[in-house]
Amino acid sequence: MEIIKCHYKISKPVNSYREIKKEAEELIRFIHTGPFNGNWNKPFAIAHCQVSETPMAFFVVSKDVLAEKMFEHFVIINPKIIEAPAEKDIGADSTMNTINEIEYQEPCMSFPFRTTKMVKRYDLIKVRYQIPKWYGLKTIERQLTGIASEIFQHEYDHMQGRNIYFETETPVKWWELIGKERSKAGTSLEPAEGLGLERAKENITNTSKTKDYAKRD
Ligand SMILES: [Zn+2]
Repeated sequence: MEIIKCHYKISKPVNSYREIKKEAEELIRFIHTGPFNGNWNKPFAIAHCQVSETPMAFFVVSKDVLAEKMFEHFVIINPKIIEAPAEKDIGADSTMNTINEIEYQEPCMSFPFRTTKMVKRYDLIKVRYQIPKWYGLKTIERQLTGIASEIFQHEYDHMQGRNIYFETETPVKWWELIGKERSKAGTSLEPAEGLGLERAKENITNTSKTKDYAKRD
């Protein structure tokens, strides 16, 4: 297994764990052993689309992430962001709100020779995903914040054919992009600032208008 040239395919929904078990187990081995090229050798998570030309909608997390109890399982299947409020409470009495936004310096395993990029993300999100249960799937709905939320949004973007550096596929070759901010292809290669957050907003399946996050189910 290896990280392949970044493509822009949308990952296909998974119907049962049986469909992906072999690939998922291989990806779990890969995330811990590599080998990886470039700057990053301890990934938090890798999406299936980063290693496959026929991508299925799942990502795996490392044992370090699992040890922090950010997720319940190595394999996170059919991830969806179902709510991302514009604001979040910071006071116990719900009178103090702040913008539900956070910035991370993110690396991306699909661009191993590039430097990290500052990406705006939602901090608090409500998500739905599935984890393996025997050969089937168990659905989980919960809130994520902090690094777990950032990981989820980053991997989710990959499954929608997006990444932190480029919005659309470009005519340049993969190796021409390595470590370069711009290429001869021109403006289409401009990094899209705030891509993660903007894209996450477009992909909220419910409303993102509500401020009263806690009262929604
Ligand atoms: Zn990535």
